[in-house]
Amino acid sequence: MKRHTKIFIGLVFGAVAGVACNILFPEAPALIFVQKYLSDPLGKIFLNLLIMMVIPLVFASLSLGVAQIGDLKKLGRIGFKTISYFLLVTTLAVTIGLVLVNLIRPGDYLPQETKTQLLASYKGQAAEIKEATEKTEFGIQTFVNIVPRNPFAAVAKPNPDMLALIFISLIVGIALTIISKERAAPLIKLLEGINDVTVVVINIAMKFAPFGVTALIFSVTSRFGFELLVALSMYIVTVLLGLALHQFGVFPILLKIFARYSPLKFFRKIETVMLTAFSTSSSNATLPTTISVAQDNLGIPTQITGFVLPLGATMNMNGTALFEGVTVLFLAQVFGVHLSFGVQIIVVLMSVLTAVGSAGVPSGSIPLLVIVLAMVNVPVEGIAIILGADRLLDMCRTVLNVTGDITCAAYIARSEGYELKQ
Ligand code: ASP
Repeated sequence: MKRHTKIFIGLVFGAVAGVACNILFPEAPALIFVQKYLSDPLGKIFLNLLIMMVIPLVFASLSLGVAQIGDLKKLGRIGFKTISYFLLVTTLAVTIGLVLVNLIRPGDYLPQETKTQLLASYKGQAAEIKEATEKTEFGIQTFVNIVPRNPFAAVAKPNPDMLALIFISLIVGIALTIISKERAAPLIKLLEGINDVTVVVINIAMKFAPFGVTALIFSVTSRFGFELLVALSMYIVTVLLGLALHQFGVFPILLKIFARYSPLKFFRKIETVMLTAFSTSSSNATLPTTISVAQDNLGIPTQITGFVLPLGATMNMNGTALFEGVTVLFLAQVFGVHLSFGVQIIVVLMSVLTAVGSAGVPSGSIPLLVIVLAMVNVPVEGIAIILGADRLLDMCRTVLNVTGDITCAAYIARSEGYELKQ
């Protein structure tokens, strides 16, 4: 049986078991016991196994990718195309979200009592996020931090500074192309070794994926407040509709025009990536799978995957930006804050920028979303209203985030004259 089929079975099994437990024994001590001592730890261990390798993988594959591109002019060209693509497609995603939220106006459908209820029940969590956000610097300091004073300190923390890691990797890769081939060889060999080892470790971790995914999905669905889905249905429908339009409308067009590749075939080839993203809600945890699928199934050369995909996992978040745009406007509607066209343009820009700055981990964008809310004078406590539905939306938007990365890698490969595996 193929790996993605096994993961899919794990996902369905976890979801059915979770929903059944949620309905049949809500908050039963046995269920809480299973969550606490079985599904939560198993899911966490699986996620950690994947994320554990991300720092060495990003460093090795990005610096090697740059070194393999070899010539600085070519690097500049690929870099420019990649970043422009990220920014343009992300802007398009937010625009889709904003058009939908203006048309549907989901904020008008939220009953006053549900609003009060949600604000009260998620107050504590919202306050914690607000506090965390106060510590998050977003602004000019974010750009200063991209150049770290101490590269080890930048990554040796629970939320590693991925933009700093990207910068270090790029600089090391560039230095490797500048020094002579003989002198670069030992470090290149070492980086290749690190790359190979991370791939093997990830492969071992992915053998547990069907179980890890079952545990992760069970933990989510067995706790989910399904009444919340109904209360927030118009908001959820708006986000999901936007995500679907981007995933099944925009990506296929981009694939056809830029990568000259059949969208259907493409989606079939990246099934494992989409399933991993959906069940982990993390672009970072999915990155190793993204890289190996792009290389093995689509035949994208390592120098392109090594360069585009680590950058994409951190910087290219189409789904996240769309979600942010919709959420800011939804909360503005709920609180009766009028956002003029000019302010909505600011929302677009800020959603794109904060999506670039968001960590590729579950709910990584929430602290930055709070910053955008504050910037356009929408009450930040309002975040409490959507927190209960965030995990579901996070699973879906992460699928777009990683699909966008591979789509970009396919485009770059084609534009550089490489053939893709059919
Ligand atoms: N979970 C998303 C990702 O990893 C980030 C977010 O939107 O919170 O891509």
